[in-house]
Amino acid sequence: MIGGKNSLYGPVNPTADAGYSADHPARKGFFTDTSICIGCKACEVACKEWNDVPATHFDMTATSYDNSHSLNANQWRHVAFIEQRKQLGAQDPGMRPPEVTDLPMPTMRPTDTAEAVADQADPTGDPGEKPDFRWLMSSDVCKHCTHAACLDVCPTGSLFRTEFGTVVVQDDICNGCGYCVPACPYGVIDRRKGPDGASNVGIAQKCTLCYDRLTVGETPACAKSCPTQSIQFGDVEELRERASARVAQLHQAGIMDARLYGNDPHDGVGGAGSMFLLLDEPEVYGFPPDPVVTTADLPHMFRRATAAAVTLLAGGALAFVGRRR
Ligand code: SF4
Ligand code: SF4
Ligand code: SF4
Repeated sequence: MIGGKNSLYGPVNPTADAGYSADHPARKGFFTDTSICIGCKACEVACKEWNDVPATHFDMTATSYDNSHSLNANQWRHVAFIEQRKQLGAQDPGMRPPEVTDLPMPTMRPTDTAEAVADQADPTGDPGEKPDFRWLMSSDVCKHCTHAACLDVCPTGSLFRTEFGTVVVQDDICNGCGYCVPACPYGVIDRRKGPDGASNVGIAQKCTLCYDRLTVGETPACAKSCPTQSIQFGDVEELRERASARVAQLHQAGIMDARLYGNDPHDGVGGAGSMFLLLDEPEVYGFPPDPVVTTADLPHMFRRATAAAVTLLAGGALAFVGRRR
């Protein structure tokens, strides 16, 4: 990254800041509108297929219907399922759970299940009151931050900023040191731990925003596979406008909890290349509410370390002079 007053924080054109000439392509990114995600997980599957990401860690958590758990080296897109005792507009999921922590999860006990269904059914056919229960579904991914700490701390140059303003790992240059893993404020990047025989075990892995597809003018695989257009791909500036218009539309429809995440160039990472429309607080989706690029404090830390070193040297010199008298 070349020097500049906003090189470590604040609004900046990341592609120009990385040294690309003025004729670089427009910055590309995602607008993920979680209000229309149906949780089909086609995006997860498309990502795995296109990028040859191993299919591992699929099992039920017993706390959610989500079976892919989290973003990690083998999960570059992750669709979170969040169950809440809240109603979303006119949504009727057809469930009347007694407690959100006691969901009717799939079970091997058919007798219990039959009883539970019979308990919930109304013999008169009257749907009754709408349940105060809703699903929040959100397809998470690398944010392709304007100020990407993962990229800043990489000692080998394996992580680089592309001409599209995105952040990509080069598998053949990464040495697996793992500095990027704790540097990411979103917990996105991760070293691959297996399975046996998989490629790039030990190497840092994450979404590339399908760099190979972008270079030939193609849409990323996840966005292309999404049947509801919950994942929208395009120029970041245009996506920001589209996202704001969608929030206004939802507010007009009475969904006042709708809000944007990652769209503000003045936030702690200078805005993200992947922005999200959420229907609740970011924490509900597992997003940090106020992310800050972990390298933003470097100048401050350097000044403090320099001041401490100068003080130490001055103290040593004074002690030496005092002893000679
Ligand atoms: S979200 Fe994390 S891994 Fe992705 S670009 Fe930002 S710092 Fe890097
Ligand atoms: S952009 Fe490509 S690499 Fe990133 S999540 Fe989508 S399919 Fe996977
Ligand atoms: S493909 Fe689209 S609708 Fe299906 S889970 Fe992914 S984001 Fe949601």
